Amino acid sequence: EDGDGDAEDDGLASSVSDHANKHDEIWADTTAYSKPHGWCQLPDGNWALVKILSNSSEHSPICLLQGKLLRLNSETLLPANPDILNGVDDLMQLSYLNEPSVLYNLQYRYSQNMIYTKAGPVLVAINPFKKIANLYGNSYIQAYRSKSLESPHVYAIADTALREMIRDEINQSIIISGESGAGKTETAKIAMQYLAALGGGSGIEYEVLQTNPILEAFGNAKTLRNDNSSRFGKLIEIHFSTTGKISGAQIQTFLLEKSRVVQCAKGERSYHIFYQLCAGAPIPLREDYKYLKQGNCFEVTGINDIERFHDVKNALNVVRISDEVQEKIFGILASVLWLGNVSFTVIDNENHIQVVTDEAVHTVAKLIGCDAVDLKLALETRKMKVGNDHIIQKLTLSQAIDTRDALAKSLYSSLFQWLVEQINISLGSGKRCTGRSISILDIYGFESFEKNSFEQFCINYANERLQQHFNRHLFKLEQEEYIQDGIDWANVEFEDNKDCLSLFERKPLGLLSILDEESIFPNGTDLTFANKLRQHLSYNSCFRGERGNIFNINHYAGEVSYDASCFLEKNRDLLHMDSIQLLARCTHELLKIFSSKILLMSEKILNLSSRRSSGPDSPKCSVATKFKRQLFQLMQRLENTTPHFIRCIKPNNSQLPSTYEQGLVLQQLKCCGVLEVVRISRSGYPTRMSHHKFARRYGFLLLESVVATHDPLSVSIAILRQFDLSPEMYQVGYTKLFFRTGQIGILEDTRNRT
Ligand code: ATP
Ligand code: MG
Repeated sequence: EDGDGDAEDDGLASSVSDHANKHDEIWADTTAYSKPHGWCQLPDGNWALVKILSNSSEHSPICLLQGKLLRLNSETLLPANPDILNGVDDLMQLSYLNEPSVLYNLQYRYSQNMIYTKAGPVLVAINPFKKIANLYGNSYIQAYRSKSLESPHVYAIADTALREMIRDEINQSIIISGESGAGKTETAKIAMQYLAALGGGSGIEYEVLQTNPILEAFGNAKTLRNDNSSRFGKLIEIHFSTTGKISGAQIQTFLLEKSRVVQCAKGERSYHIFYQLCAGAPIPLREDYKYLKQGNCFEVTGINDIERFHDVKNALNVVRISDEVQEKIFGILASVLWLGNVSFTVIDNENHIQVVTDEAVHTVAKLIGCDAVDLKLALETRKMKVGNDHIIQKLTLSQAIDTRDALAKSLYSSLFQWLVEQINISLGSGKRCTGRSISILDIYGFESFEKNSFEQFCINYANERLQQHFNRHLFKLEQEEYIQDGIDWANVEFEDNKDCLSLFERKPLGLLSILDEESIFPNGTDLTFANKLRQHLSYNSCFRGERGNIFNINHYAGEVSYDASCFLEKNRDLLHMDSIQLLARCTHELLKIFSSKILLMSEKILNLSSRRSSGPDSPKCSVATKFKRQLFQLMQRLENTTPHFIRCIKPNNSQLPSTYEQGLVLQQLKCCGVLEVVRISRSGYPTRMSHHKFARRYGFLLLESVVATHDPLSVSIAILRQFDLSPEMYQVGYTKLFFRTGQIGILEDTRNRT
């Protein structure tokens, strides 16, 4: 319970010049006691362990690095932890919490297949990119349940959530974040397995687990980063009865990447379900679909699309989607693929087009249940209202392609949304949740690419919100412990990201408001949007306008440069009225449902643009606003839960086992707030020891013998006085002493000398 764990046994030399606040530990005066090891940064940015041969206050330390003697600038050298702390299972147990020490500890564990490590309240999970034996399965679940196993694990987190839900009668959440390919979805499934194993019995737990293959088939795709990349965010709320049994679940999804349906990069695929659907067909036939052909990637090593298709069909049955309805779903998927094959011929020198009347048009028409003539008309022309008259405008080639692709995207995303609703009906069909719930959030982490677009803008905004939630929670946890022990809390600094959040959310002059305003403004373009940002937001230190469409945002995880191209279009996400009306007339039952929903959305936007004077609270249904609303709901839900954080880390960019790249890991530790946890801990009083233990351990160092006659508190205070520890460096609590980083070293040192 003493916080400092093993640190006091490490025989570390002193750290006199330890400027505990914020700064990394700085080399102490160690005239008499050289530290065996330190960290030195190599030109490539990696850290190497060096042996310190001499380290006096007058000279720069002399070190041994890979057999070579070096005289290093002491500023470039950071203290390393003693060997005895190698691979501790909580980073907070480290005496030195500098970056290389954290990195090395994780690497040390990773190399021994210990992929889970705690960082205080946070679980860090490093993707092994291989199956690790003796880690998962029923016997491990039982071992974590009975607490015969206590090493860090997703099971341990799920177990804590389950216990606290029952004990405190408070809903719980498990918040998983990390980059693409870091292992969020796998981790979420591992947590679900634990909960299903312990909360099972009624059979509904099987249904809950079977939502995974469905959502992965329709929402995951192979990307260059991850063969099974989730292209949507997901919150699953698992409901428990008062006796702790699973009684149902509800799923909420966020921001499906629609554009993937009509385009994807070389080496990437569209959504798995398309390939599963055609997996039975010979490859040349599959290559006939233009939407699938462009990625030039039909199979993924290790994924058997035929088998997966059977799994999906089985899972659909489990959530009570009948074979008949499944046929309808597959019909829509097929119509999307055939839409991609609809082609156009240019008929005049103004680039107007005509749809080529071929198999593609006829097949789409048949699949969605409309007249081929109507379909052609919807793809070739657009009805426009000019004054009180309707005119028919012919479309140009690029307009027609956009119209066709918009229809395909809209069909697919409507289908996805509808499927989630069906699953929710099935999972909620039991009794309404009377007990408690555990929510698992699997959401895209912070993204920063060379080119960042609307998607990254939304994702990073979400991450700012989540980061704020994370900070607040950690702050609260720390604060509670300090207050409990009567410690003055005022000296602990805490950073927050409210400036960046206000940059996004301020009304009327914030990123989101300006985006919406510009999206409904008739003459708005991506450039006028970018200009307005520059004009109104430059006062905010988190914003920096660049030339043209480019603007930069200073996120908590680093600066990201966005390109405003297509922002307005992606934010509006409109389907033309002609297409909506076409869908409404189709005989395919599901399309009727979809079209009414799409219509509802469009009307909100269209109404808004015709009543531009509408107040700030009028219903806006732009993508960004809808996302913001979802995010607020999500945050509200999370606020009412006890959160448990899991940070997934990708150790390399090649999906390879046993490969640990320090720089990559470090950057992720920064982005997901693990280093912030470490920093907070460092800026507070991370070393804690009970009066009792402190007195026992150092009492014999006292010059006057007060030990026998005094209580632990008096002995402790006498020790602190004798060693003249500066008052800013420690605090005396009711039961414990709290020290800044490294402070205990002085005492340890003397103790070891004595
Ligand atoms: P995205 O944001 O792209 O959805 P993600 O964080 O959800 O990425 P996952 O799909 O969960 O990443 O993981 C990527 C791959 O890494 C998995 O398909 C699997 O091969 C491997 N992997 C992840 N976690 C584990 C684990 N605990 N054990 C073994 N392999 C794992
Ligand atoms: Mg995923």
